[in-house]
Amino acid sequence: MSILIAIEPVNGTLNKGSFELTSYAKMLATKTGQEVNALVLGSSNNTSQLGKYGADKVYTIENANLDVFDSQVYATVIAEAAGKLGCSTVLVRHTANGKAILGRLAVKLKADSVSGVNSVPDTQAGFTVTKSVYSGKAIATFALSTENKVLSLMGNAVQPQELGTDVTPQVLDITVPSPRLTLVNRQTDTGHVPLPEAEKVVSAGRGMKGPENWGIVEDLATALGATTACSRPVADTGWRPHHEHVGQTGVAIRPNLYIAIGISGAIQHLAGVNNSKTIVVINKDPEAPFFKAADYGVLGDLFEVVPKLTEAIKRFKEKA
Ligand SMILES: Cc1cc2nc3c(=O)[nH]c(=O)nc-3n(C[C@H](O)[C@H](O)[C@H](O)COP(=O)(O)OP(=O)(O)OC[C@H]3O[C@@H](n4cnc5c(N)ncnc54)[C@H](O)[C@@H]3O)c2cc1C
Repeated sequence: MSILIAIEPVNGTLNKGSFELTSYAKMLATKTGQEVNALVLGSSNNTSQLGKYGADKVYTIENANLDVFDSQVYATVIAEAAGKLGCSTVLVRHTANGKAILGRLAVKLKADSVSGVNSVPDTQAGFTVTKSVYSGKAIATFALSTENKVLSLMGNAVQPQELGTDVTPQVLDITVPSPRLTLVNRQTDTGHVPLPEAEKVVSAGRGMKGPENWGIVEDLATALGATTACSRPVADTGWRPHHEHVGQTGVAIRPNLYIAIGISGAIQHLAGVNNSKTIVVINKDPEAPFFKAADYGVLGDLFEVVPKLTEAIKRFKEKA
C-alpha cells in the first residue's frame, strides 16, 4: 500500500506548504518502503515540481466542482483516489481546509487519524506520531492501529527538500460530485504571505495604544519581508482585521521568526505561537510573561525600539 498526499493549489500555483507535505511523505515512505502518490485537486502551473520534492507519481483532477471548497466533495474525491491508487496512508496539510477534510476522510476510510502532527511517524514497532499539546508545553505521542491512517501536517514542521526530478502528471479519472455549498463572496488578502505559511511574522498587541500607531509595525514587517499579526484584543477592538489574530482562538503559526511587540504573552496567545523557531519579545515590563518564552528579549519602550530595529535592518540589508 502507498501514501497519498492531497495537494491544493493556491491561486493556480503550489506553495511551500505543498512541498513540505511532499517531503514529509517522502521521509515516511523512505522508512516504510512505500511510494508517494500526489493528488493535485485543481489546476496549477508547477504541478510537476512535486516530483522534485519526493512524489513518485503525480495525479491531477481538474473539475469545476472543485473550484469552491466543499469539504464533503474534497473528502469524497480523496477517499476514492486512495482506494483507486491503493493508498493506506493519506496526508493533508493542517490548514483550515485540511482540518475540515480530515475527520470526514477518517470516517470514509475507517482510519485512525491525528491532526496537526509535527514529526515523521515512528514505524519501528507499529505506527506512532507526535503533536504539540497543552499550548505547546507538552508533546503527545499517538499510536494508530487501523490499516488506513489519516494525518494532517502542521505548517513549517519540516522543510521542503529537493531530492529528485520533476514528474509528469497524469489525469486521474474520478467523478467529482457537485458541491452543496455556493460561494457568495470571496475576499482575499493580496501582497502578503498568508500567516500559516509565513516564515517571518511581526505581531503587535495592546501596547501599541491604538491603530494609528501601526505604521512602525508595518515598516518593520516590510523591512524583514514578514507578515503582520496581532493579539486577540487588538482584533476584537477593530484595530486590526480578524484574520491577523493569532493564538488559541486565532491562527496557530510556526514561523522561523516571531517578533512580539507590546504583547504580554498570555497563555492563550502563546498557544498559537510558541512553536515558532525563534521568538523575539519587545516589552517595557520586565515581568511580562512573554519573556519566559522568548529566545531574545528587548526590555524597552516599543515606540523607541521598533523604529531603531527597522533602521538597523535596513542598514544591514543595504550593506549586504
Ligand atoms: C478563552 C480565551 C481565549 C483567548 N484567545 C486568545 C488568542 O487566541 N489570542 C490572544 O492574543 N489572546 C487571547 N485571549 C486573550 C488573552 O488572555 C490576553 O488577554 C491577550 O492576549 C492580551 O493581549 P495583549 O498582550 O495585546 O494585551 P495586554 O495584556 O494588555 O498586554 C500589553 C503589553 O504591552 C506592553 N506595553 C505597553 N506599552 C508598551 C510600550 N510602550 N512598549 C513596550 N511594551 C509595552 C505591556 O507591558 C503589556 O505586556 C483569550 C482569552 C480567553 C479568555
